[in-house]
Amino acid sequence: MAIPEWIKKDIPRRKFALSLLRRLNSRNLNTVCEEAKCPNIGDCFKRGTATFLIMGDICTRSCVFCAVKKGEPYPLDPEEPLRVAEEVNNLGLNHVVITSPSRDDLSDRGASFYSKTVSEIKKRSPHTTVEVLVPDFKGSLDAIKEVVDSGIDVLNHNIETVPRLYPIVRPEANYEQSLNILKEASEYAPSLPLKSGLIVGLGEEKEEVISVMRDLLFVNCNILTIGQYLRPSKKLLPVMRYVHPGEFREYKILGEEMGFDYVASAPLVRSSYHADEALMIYKDKELK
Ligand code: SF4
Repeated sequence: MAIPEWIKKDIPRRKFALSLLRRLNSRNLNTVCEEAKCPNIGDCFKRGTATFLIMGDICTRSCVFCAVKKGEPYPLDPEEPLRVAEEVNNLGLNHVVITSPSRDDLSDRGASFYSKTVSEIKKRSPHTTVEVLVPDFKGSLDAIKEVVDSGIDVLNHNIETVPRLYPIVRPEANYEQSLNILKEASEYAPSLPLKSGLIVGLGEEKEEVISVMRDLLFVNCNILTIGQYLRPSKKLLPVMRYVHPGEFREYKILGEEMGFDYVASAPLVRSSYHADEALMIYKDKELK
């Protein structure tokens, strides 16, 4: 299937990002921007936001849309939370997203490492807002509470696709469990903005996407991202459909009519895309 015009994005901006990536790599820091082959890599860095991948770049799960390496992860690096916090401070980031592969090999699924990283960032950069894009921690409420208590500004957990496609796309995950992560967080911290994201073009129907949007609103999700699945490698799922930008606009309009505070919906949108703007708009609405 030929890649449509609207997907092609100008490469020049990547040059800026590549120099920054080299700098981060020299400090033994991973960004999901690089691991997941994100198309917006130039944009975010220029906006003063970045997404750090903590706890290594090897995942214990095998989602068939994701470019992150799969296998047996390395032991945690106890210095990493401090290094991330120092880099956030050095870069003067106004908004940072912290994410990780799934670490089902750890007894707390990595919750304490998230909490340590967030606390180190908040100590050094109290004005930087911190969003965490977390795995499902196998549904552990204790893990969610630990991460929320570390002082995060946004909790993000991607629902990724529609329930019918879970066995194909995210075989080790569970749709209800992912919804429940958001539900538990909203009951534990009612004023904490919740965010989730979908990738489309994997074979889902429009009605299924709208039904997922309803489910997310039901668990008090405030911010939604919807983007086009792009095949990171031939080993991963093929694109079933390139969704037209008009359909993405429909999802945005419908989502905000349905009650989301902010919907970013366009082919190249990813879960950290314009993350700072989403939080700002959410906060403005809360103040009204
Ligand atoms: S759990 Fe996350 S990082 Fe791991 S394979 Fe799935 S999407 Fe990728």
